[in-house]
Amino acid sequence: MTTAMFRILVIEDDDELRSMLRTLLESQSYRVSEAASGQRGILEARSYRPDLALVDLGLPDLDGTEVVRAIRSFAPLPILVLTARTMEADKVLALDAGADDYVTKPFSTSELLARIRAALRRTARAGTALSVLQLGAVMLDFGARTARGPDGPLHLTPLEYRLIECLARSAGMIVTQRQLLQEVWGPERVNDSRGLRSYIKFLRQKLEPDPGRPRFILTEAGLGYRLQLDESAADGDLRPTPTSA
Ligand code: CA
Repeated sequence: MTTAMFRILVIEDDDELRSMLRTLLESQSYRVSEAASGQRGILEARSYRPDLALVDLGLPDLDGTEVVRAIRSFAPLPILVLTARTMEADKVLALDAGADDYVTKPFSTSELLARIRAALRRTARAGTALSVLQLGAVMLDFGARTARGPDGPLHLTPLEYRLIECLARSAGMIVTQRQLLQEVWGPERVNDSRGLRSYIKFLRQKLEPDPGRPRFILTEAGLGYRLQLDESAADGDLRPTPTSA
Protein backbone atom coordinates (compact mmCIF):
# COMPACT_ATOMS: atom_id res chain seq x y z
CA MET A 1 0.00 0.00 0.00
CA THR A 2 1.36 3.39 -0.85
CA THR A 3 0.71 6.07 1.71
CA ALA A 4 2.79 8.82 0.13
CA MET A 5 -0.20 10.98 -0.72
CA PHE A 6 -1.95 10.91 2.64
CA ARG A 7 -1.68 13.94 4.89
CA ILE A 8 -2.05 13.55 8.62
CA LEU A 9 -2.56 16.39 11.07
CA VAL A 10 -1.23 15.74 14.59
CA ILE A 11 -2.80 17.90 17.32
CA GLU A 12 -0.83 17.19 20.49
CA ASP A 13 0.67 19.57 23.06
CA ASP A 14 3.34 17.16 24.32
CA ASP A 15 6.39 18.19 22.24
CA GLU A 16 8.20 14.91 22.67
CA LEU A 17 5.20 12.80 21.70
CA ARG A 18 4.33 15.07 18.77
CA SER A 19 7.85 14.79 17.44
CA MET A 20 7.81 11.01 17.91
CA LEU A 21 4.53 10.81 16.00
CA ARG A 22 5.95 12.88 13.15
CA THR A 23 8.98 10.60 12.87
CA LEU A 24 6.82 7.49 13.01
CA LEU A 25 4.31 8.71 10.43
CA GLU A 26 6.96 10.05 8.06
CA SER A 27 8.74 6.69 8.24
CA GLN A 28 5.50 5.26 6.79
CA SER A 29 5.53 7.88 4.01
CA TYR A 30 2.65 9.91 5.38
CA ARG A 31 2.94 13.67 5.11
CA VAL A 32 2.59 15.33 8.49
CA SER A 33 1.49 18.68 9.85
CA GLU A 34 1.61 19.52 13.57
CA ALA A 35 -0.31 21.70 15.97
CA ALA A 36 0.46 22.12 19.69
CA SER A 37 -2.91 23.57 20.67
CA GLY A 38 -6.57 23.05 19.90
CA GLN A 39 -7.07 26.45 18.26
CA ARG A 40 -4.00 25.98 16.07
CA GLY A 41 -5.19 22.49 15.20
CA ILE A 42 -8.60 23.70 14.03
CA LEU A 43 -6.91 26.33 11.81
CA GLU A 44 -4.56 23.72 10.39
CA ALA A 45 -7.46 21.37 9.68
CA ARG A 46 -9.00 24.14 7.57
CA SER A 47 -5.88 25.25 5.72
CA TYR A 48 -3.82 22.04 5.42
CA ARG A 49 -6.83 19.87 4.52
CA PRO A 50 -5.47 16.64 6.00
CA ASP A 51 -6.81 13.20 5.11
CA LEU A 52 -6.85 12.24 8.78
CA ALA A 53 -6.44 14.00 12.13
CA LEU A 54 -4.93 12.65 15.34
CA VAL A 55 -6.31 14.68 18.25
CA ASP A 56 -5.03 14.55 21.83
CA LEU A 57 -7.98 14.84 24.23
CA GLY A 58 -5.95 16.70 26.86
CA LEU A 59 -4.97 20.02 25.26
CA PRO A 60 -3.98 23.22 27.09
CA ASP A 61 -6.51 25.60 25.52
CA LEU A 62 -9.53 23.58 24.44
CA ASP A 63 -10.91 20.22 25.42
CA GLY A 64 -10.02 17.70 22.71
CA THR A 65 -13.70 16.85 22.37
CA GLU A 66 -14.41 20.48 21.39
CA VAL A 67 -11.63 20.25 18.80
CA VAL A 68 -13.20 17.09 17.40
CA ARG A 69 -16.60 18.76 17.22
CA ALA A 70 -15.16 21.86 15.54
CA ILE A 71 -13.25 19.91 12.88
CA ARG A 72 -16.19 17.59 12.30
CA SER A 73 -18.42 20.63 11.62
CA PHE A 74 -16.52 21.49 8.43
CA ALA A 75 -14.60 18.37 7.37
CA PRO A 76 -15.62 14.73 6.90
CA LEU A 77 -12.09 13.39 7.45
CA PRO A 78 -11.46 10.50 9.86
CA ILE A 79 -10.52 11.67 13.36
CA LEU A 80 -8.65 9.48 15.82
CA VAL A 81 -8.38 10.68 19.39
CA LEU A 82 -5.39 10.02 21.62
CA THR A 83 -6.32 9.69 25.23
CA ALA A 84 -4.36 9.12 28.40
CA ARG A 85 -7.61 8.97 30.25
CA THR A 86 -9.08 5.66 31.17
CA MET A 87 -12.55 6.95 31.91
CA GLU A 88 -15.09 5.52 29.50
CA ALA A 89 -17.13 8.72 29.62
CA ASP A 90 -14.39 10.74 27.89
CA LYS A 91 -14.08 8.27 25.05
CA VAL A 92 -17.84 8.17 24.61
CA LEU A 93 -17.98 11.99 24.53
CA ALA A 94 -15.25 12.13 21.89
CA LEU A 95 -16.89 9.40 19.80
CA ASP A 96 -20.29 11.09 20.10
CA ALA A 97 -18.67 14.40 19.08
CA GLY A 98 -17.62 12.77 15.81
CA ALA A 99 -14.34 10.99 16.46
CA ASP A 100 -14.03 7.75 14.49
CA ASP A 101 -11.81 5.85 16.87
CA TYR A 102 -9.50 6.25 19.83
CA VAL A 103 -6.08 5.05 20.91
CA THR A 104 -5.21 4.96 24.59
CA LYS A 105 -1.76 6.17 25.69
CA PRO A 106 0.67 4.58 26.04
CA PHE A 107 -0.04 2.95 22.68
CA SER A 108 2.04 0.61 20.59
CA THR A 109 3.14 2.09 17.28
CA SER A 110 1.86 -0.94 15.39
CA GLU A 111 -1.57 -0.50 16.98
CA LEU A 112 -1.68 3.19 16.10
CA LEU A 113 -0.60 2.54 12.50
CA ALA A 114 -3.20 -0.23 12.14
CA ARG A 115 -5.94 2.15 13.36
CA ILE A 116 -4.78 4.82 10.90
CA ARG A 117 -4.81 2.35 8.00
CA ALA A 118 -8.30 1.14 9.00
CA ALA A 119 -9.58 4.73 9.12
CA LEU A 120 -8.11 5.60 5.72
CA ARG A 121 -9.50 2.36 4.23
CA ARG A 122 -12.96 3.26 5.44
CA THR A 123 -12.70 6.64 3.71
CA ALA A 124 -11.69 4.86 0.51
CA ARG A 125 -14.65 2.49 0.88
CA ALA A 126 -17.22 5.18 1.66
CA GLY A 127 -20.04 5.14 -0.85
CA THR A 128 -19.10 1.78 -2.31
CA ALA A 129 -21.26 -1.20 -1.44
CA LEU A 130 -19.65 -4.03 0.46
CA SER A 131 -19.68 -7.22 -1.54
CA VAL A 132 -18.05 -10.03 0.37
CA LEU A 133 -16.51 -10.47 3.77
CA GLN A 134 -14.26 -13.30 4.84
CA LEU A 135 -13.95 -14.15 8.52
CA GLY A 136 -11.58 -17.11 8.77
CA ALA A 137 -13.40 -20.06 7.23
CA VAL A 138 -16.66 -18.12 6.93
CA MET A 139 -17.56 -16.23 3.75
CA LEU A 140 -20.43 -13.75 3.66
CA ASP A 141 -21.88 -12.42 0.43
CA PHE A 142 -23.80 -9.23 1.17
CA GLY A 143 -25.17 -8.88 -2.35
CA ALA A 144 -26.69 -12.34 -2.48
CA ARG A 145 -27.33 -12.43 1.29
CA THR A 146 -25.70 -15.80 1.60
CA ALA A 147 -23.15 -17.11 4.03
CA ARG A 148 -21.07 -20.24 4.06
CA GLY A 149 -19.05 -21.77 6.86
CA PRO A 150 -16.65 -24.70 7.01
CA ASP A 151 -19.60 -27.12 7.33
CA GLY A 152 -21.90 -25.64 4.68
CA PRO A 153 -24.42 -22.81 4.32
CA LEU A 154 -25.16 -20.59 7.31
CA HIS A 155 -28.50 -18.92 7.87
CA LEU A 156 -28.43 -15.29 9.00
CA THR A 157 -31.54 -13.19 9.52
CA PRO A 158 -31.85 -9.86 7.63
CA LEU A 159 -31.17 -8.05 10.89
CA GLU A 160 -28.01 -10.07 11.47
CA TYR A 161 -26.82 -9.22 7.96
CA ARG A 162 -27.42 -5.53 8.63
CA LEU A 163 -25.52 -5.72 11.91
CA ILE A 164 -22.42 -7.48 10.54
CA GLU A 165 -22.51 -5.21 7.48
CA CYS A 166 -22.52 -2.14 9.72
CA LEU A 167 -19.48 -3.47 11.60
CA ALA A 168 -17.75 -4.47 8.35
CA ARG A 169 -18.10 -1.00 6.83
CA SER A 170 -15.93 0.26 9.69
CA ALA A 171 -13.72 -2.83 9.86
CA GLY A 172 -10.83 -2.34 12.26
CA MET A 173 -12.52 0.63 13.92
CA ILE A 174 -14.83 0.99 16.85
CA VAL A 175 -18.54 1.29 16.17
CA THR A 176 -20.40 2.59 19.23
CA GLN A 177 -23.50 0.89 20.61
CA ARG A 178 -25.44 4.02 19.74
CA GLN A 179 -24.24 4.00 16.12
CA LEU A 180 -25.12 0.32 15.71
CA LEU A 181 -28.56 0.67 17.27
CA GLN A 182 -29.30 3.79 15.25
CA GLU A 183 -28.22 2.26 11.94
CA VAL A 184 -29.56 -1.25 12.36
CA TRP A 185 -32.68 -0.78 14.49
CA GLY A 186 -33.46 2.91 14.02
CA PRO A 187 -33.48 6.03 16.20
CA GLU A 188 -36.27 4.85 18.49
CA ARG A 189 -34.19 1.92 19.72
CA VAL A 190 -30.87 3.65 20.53
CA ASN A 191 -31.08 2.65 24.20
CA ASP A 192 -31.67 -1.05 23.66
CA SER A 193 -28.13 -2.18 24.45
CA ARG A 194 -29.47 -5.46 25.83
CA GLY A 195 -31.08 -6.28 22.48
CA LEU A 196 -27.83 -5.43 20.74
CA ARG A 197 -25.87 -7.75 23.04
CA SER A 198 -28.23 -10.62 22.19
CA TYR A 199 -27.72 -10.13 18.46
CA ILE A 200 -23.95 -9.86 18.84
CA LYS A 201 -24.15 -13.19 20.65
CA PHE A 202 -26.18 -14.75 17.81
CA LEU A 203 -23.65 -13.48 15.27
CA ARG A 204 -20.73 -14.88 17.23
CA GLN A 205 -22.45 -18.26 17.49
CA LYS A 206 -22.82 -18.34 13.73
CA LEU A 207 -19.57 -16.73 12.59
CA GLU A 208 -16.90 -17.22 15.24
CA PRO A 209 -14.84 -20.44 15.39
CA ASP A 210 -15.01 -20.19 19.21
CA PRO A 211 -17.98 -17.93 20.15
CA GLY A 212 -16.87 -17.78 23.79
CA ARG A 213 -13.52 -16.30 22.78
CA PRO A 214 -14.31 -14.06 19.81
CA ARG A 215 -11.57 -13.46 17.30
CA PHE A 216 -13.42 -11.17 14.89
CA ILE A 217 -16.36 -9.50 16.67
CA LEU A 218 -14.64 -7.85 19.62
CA THR A 219 -16.31 -6.10 22.54
CA GLU A 220 -15.07 -2.65 23.56
CA ALA A 221 -16.38 -2.63 27.11
CA GLY A 222 -18.86 0.15 27.73
CA LEU A 223 -18.34 1.62 24.26
CA GLY A 224 -19.30 -0.70 21.43
CA TYR A 225 -17.84 -3.31 19.10
CA ARG A 226 -14.99 -3.64 16.64
CA LEU A 227 -14.76 -6.06 13.72
CA GLN A 228 -11.16 -7.20 13.66
CA LEU A 229 -9.93 -8.52 10.32
CA ASP A 230 -6.55 -9.92 9.43
CA GLU A 231 -4.59 -6.98 8.02
CA SER A 232 -3.89 -8.76 4.72
CA ALA A 233 -7.56 -9.69 4.28
CA ALA A 234 -8.61 -6.16 5.22
CA ASP A 235 -6.44 -4.71 2.48
CA GLY A 236 -7.95 -7.08 -0.08
CA ASP A 237 -8.72 -5.37 -3.33
CA LEU A 238 -9.88 -2.22 -1.59
CA ARG A 239 -7.11 0.19 -2.35
CA PRO A 240 -7.38 3.46 -0.46
CA THR A 241 -7.13 6.59 -2.54
CA PRO A 242 -6.48 10.04 -1.15
CA THR A 243 -9.53 12.21 -0.57
CA SER A 244 -7.71 15.37 -1.54
CA ALA A 245 -4.74 16.04 -3.80
CA1 CA B 1 -1.85 16.47 26.22
